[in-house]
Formats: sequence, structure tokens, C-alpha cells
Amino acid sequence: MKTVLVILDGAADEPSPLLCGKTPLHAAPTPHLDRMAATGAVGWLNPTPAGQAPGSEAGIPALLGVESTAYGRAAVEAEGRGIQPADGQQALRASLVRVSGPLGDPGTKLVELLDGDAGDRLARNAARFLDGTGVSLYPGTAGRNIMVTPVTTEALTPPHPLRGLPVSLAGQWPCRKVLEALRVHLGGVTLWPWGGGAPFAPRGTSPFTALVAGAELVRGLGRMLGMVVPDVPGATGNTDTCLSAKAHATLALLGRHRAVAVHVEAPDLAAHRRDPLAKAAILRAVDRELIGPLAAGIGNGRLVVTCDHGTSSVSGCHLDGPVPYVSNLPDGTGGNNRFFEGAIGTPVLSPRDLWIMDPVAC
Ligand SMILES: [Zn+2]
Repeated sequence: MKTVLVILDGAADEPSPLLCGKTPLHAAPTPHLDRMAATGAVGWLNPTPAGQAPGSEAGIPALLGVESTAYGRAAVEAEGRGIQPADGQQALRASLVRVSGPLGDPGTKLVELLDGDAGDRLARNAARFLDGTGVSLYPGTAGRNIMVTPVTTEALTPPHPLRGLPVSLAGQWPCRKVLEALRVHLGGVTLWPWGGGAPFAPRGTSPFTALVAGAELVRGLGRMLGMVVPDVPGATGNTDTCLSAKAHATLALLGRHRAVAVHVEAPDLAAHRRDPLAKAAILRAVDRELIGPLAAGIGNGRLVVTCDHGTSSVSGCHLDGPVPYVSNLPDGTGGNNRFFEGAIGTPVLSPRDLWIMDPVAC
């Protein structure tokens, strides 16, 4: 049976006062998802393996049907962008941050994280400054920059939880002299390296053999799992992604692949920005421009829509616990007129249970 899995990153949420106490999924008009919930199957599944933090690193391999222990995300994102560090080099995430003083000063604090358009412009400036220093910077969008260093280090702490705290809490800084010179050059802004760690070492084989995604981490996971991961023009991994292009690419891949996954990063980004209205607008567009065409194009096949974790647009943080899923194939759990967190009461599955109940490979 042909199968399409749609992963809406961070789509599950909490009720928001800005949406009159509804979640974005509840507030958004989603007639195609609602039709699947009414005539197909709904339930909860837990995408986060025991002992791991909720996030795409943990949830997406689980949804794709493989087991993995915690790993560093930067190397996977580098793979997703075709950046290949040489032996002895290491790929790290590099966030633009404003700090209060020299990096070597124990009193220096992390003032702010620059992950918007201003940060992206500064990243391009930083890349030019670092040229010839032995440290390479590959600017990305939405702050997703990759830095390749000539030394390897520990995992390092991401900047997000350290706002207002001493930069020394991040532990050892690789290439600190270079990053301090960059701080002087950019008037108090430098790069915060993080995202190192153990290599991605999946166990098992994914039933999915093709993946449509724009986000670097997800593209890297797909490539490392041996999937076909095409470049889809307009699939940016950001809130401006072209959803209809993703739908078209997914349906085209179904001609040669039995099981195709498609990932949309945008709901998670809107929630991290604590913007439930934007998140609801994105979910409305996802329903119209992605789910509708896929539901029409899958024919007698199976369409499953879920998320890799929840993200609160109230707190801006990932949410632990189960997430809702909906499938177009009935199993007796459907009958809801709406698809949202509060309308589902069936037991929680593991992603593995979902694929075992109706194996993709059959
Ligand atoms: Zn996130």
C-alpha cells in the first residue's frame, strides 16, 4: 500500500488566550484534516523515546521507524546541507549572539540571541570575516548557521537557556581567539557554537525511502537513513515554505516509492516565536495547500498526519508527551468532526505500534 506520512513539526500546542482558549490546531479551519478525523482514524502517539528530550532530533527518527540514542544535531544538519568536514574538523551550530564583554572575561553575559533577519545579515558578514582564519561559517536561514572548526569539542550548551547568564557556563569555547576577534569586528556580536555530540547511529531500517523536507536537520536525517531527499524549489524549511511544491514533489515520489515522508518546519518556528495566530494561519495553509492535494492524490493509499513533538506558542518551548495523529484509513477510532488535541480520547501508541498495526511494507 502506498503511504504518505506528514510530519507537522511542533504542531500540537496548549490553549492560548490569544485564540480564546483554543490551541492553534483547534482555532485553524482545517476541513481536510477534519474530514480524515471524521471518516478515518485518530489517536495519540508518543514520538519521544524514553530518556530523550522532546524535539525533532528524537521524534523524527522515531516517526520514521528507527531507534536512535541522543546525538549531536550539527553534524546531521551539515549532512543535510552537503557540508562535509574533513578528518579532524567538526561541524557545530553557530548562533549569532550579543554578549556584554570579552569572551574570556568571567563576568561576560549572553545579552541576546539574534535569530531573525538581522542575525542572518550578520552571519554573512561573519562568514567573510572568518575567511582565512581556519574557521568556516556557512550561513543559513532563521539562524541555522553551521560552523566548521579545525578542532573537536564536547556537545556544548545551546544559547537559548543561557540568556542573561555568564557565557562561561557554555563550557569550553572552541577557537575562542577567533570568535573574540569576531566580537570586536561586529561590535559585541559573535558566534555561539553548540550542537556537537555523539554521531547519529540509527538502529533498524525505515520503511520510508523518500523524504520531502527543507529543514537541514530533517534532510540530513533522511540522507543518513539512505532515503532519496530531493531539492524542492521553494521548500525553505522556514515559514515562507512553498507547501504546494511539497505536495507536488511528494505525489511525484509516490510513483517510484511505496512510502514517502514529508516534513513541515513552519508550525514549530511560529510557536518558538510565541505567535499562536501565525501558527494557526500556517496550519490553515498546510491543510489547504498540502493535506488537501495529498488526500486527493493518494487514492487508495494511506495518509497519516502527525507531529514530532508539541511546541507551546505560550511559552515558546517544546512540549513533552503524546501528540495527536490522524489517518485517512478507518480503524473504528474516527467519527470526530474536528481534528485537534481536545477531540481525541483513544489510547497512546508508540510510532512503532502505528506502523506494525498497518505495516507500510505490506
Ligand atoms: Zn523546535
